[in-house]
Amino acid sequence: MQTLKNFISPDIHLSQLNSLLRHSHTVVLGGFFLGFTNVAVFWKVLDQSWLVIWLMVLLAVMLFRMGLAFKYKHANKNQINCSLWHKGFVLSSLMQGLCWFTLGLYGVLNLAAEYMAILCVSIAGLIGGSIATTSSSVQAFVAFSAPSLLPIMFMMFYADQSAARVLGLLGVVYFSLMVRAAFDINSILLRNIRNNQALQVAKKKAEELASELYQLSTQDALTQVANRRGFDETLEKEWNRASRNNLGLSLLMLDIDYFKKFNDFYGHLKGDEALKKVAGILKQQAARSSDYVARYGGEEFAIILPDTPAKDALVLAEKICKAVTLNGIEHQASQISNFLTISVGMAHVHAEQSSKPLELVKLADEALYKAKDNGRNCAQG
Ligand code: GH3
Ligand code: MG
Ligand code: MG
Repeated sequence: MQTLKNFISPDIHLSQLNSLLRHSHTVVLGGFFLGFTNVAVFWKVLDQSWLVIWLMVLLAVMLFRMGLAFKYKHANKNQINCSLWHKGFVLSSLMQGLCWFTLGLYGVLNLAAEYMAILCVSIAGLIGGSIATTSSSVQAFVAFSAPSLLPIMFMMFYADQSAARVLGLLGVVYFSLMVRAAFDINSILLRNIRNNQALQVAKKKAEELASELYQLSTQDALTQVANRRGFDETLEKEWNRASRNNLGLSLLMLDIDYFKKFNDFYGHLKGDEALKKVAGILKQQAARSSDYVARYGGEEFAIILPDTPAKDALVLAEKICKAVTLNGIEHQASQISNFLTISVGMAHVHAEQSSKPLELVKLADEALYKAKDNGRNCAQG
């Protein structure tokens, strides 16, 4: 029952429609060529005006199929109603099947056995060929093949001549085998579509996991800012981008003042808390989407500031110093303040291919030492 229901109103996948309508040119050219050949063969033995009308009707059906394929080619595939398009395709197959039915019927009534054999072979050939082009939809295949072959085969089966009866029987057997083949090919195709869909889902999931993994591998577990690995990769990337576009690149190196004393006085757990707070302040202050905050190591942080002039970078460094002090993390063991403070070194270069990103780190480090020498809790360029 379920199979019948799905046969009448199937879930048609876009790739099935693609495969059906992609072959339309072959179907139309092949079908019309065969129709024309049959008309030529029967020209002398059947009514000629009837044959011309039949050929014109076949041409109209073929033009309808071509129009359908053309419209489908230019339709927005994300918005189309697959079921409706499928119904249109089945209808066009049925129309073509009915065309051959009328020729077959006219033939059975008027043709001698040898001519009838030619017609039967033509129709059987058409049906065999359409397995390759139409079995993406068993419905379309049956809509074409059943009317074009079955009625004339039944009529021949009940004819007087025994040769015609044998031909009719063979035709019915042939039709059953072809339908069976269409079902088999169709189920292989559907399995492929399902496998392909599962593969796409798995691929997307794997990509998401890889990106999550990369994110984790470049993040510092304690402070939730980037770690040294993330810093090294990003600096290299930004350095290359800056040299390609001839832009300036600034770097801040930040170091917590008297942090060893902080740990000794408050304990390591409080020290960890303080590191997290400082990282939070840095992220808040370096708020541009291109700014990149990282824990360089221990109680040292770094901020990459792409496309930022030295003057602006130094203003930001001073702002960060103030923000850390104003945050009011108590540090009674500090020699310069009652609160936790940081020192910042700033360096700026116009990246050139000949020099290396590490030189920028060296320059910022030198500036940081200067800030320490100048009494800490300050920024130096
Ligand atoms: P200065 O002002 O010259 O920078 O002095 P300092 O004491 O901050 O510098 P020093 O390099 O002597 O000490 C750094 C301290 O940072 C030592 C280490 O215990 C502490 N530290 C490094 N990583 C962590 C961490 O993950 N958690 C905690 N609590 N402390 C850390
Ligand atoms: Mg240090
Ligand atoms: Mg320090």
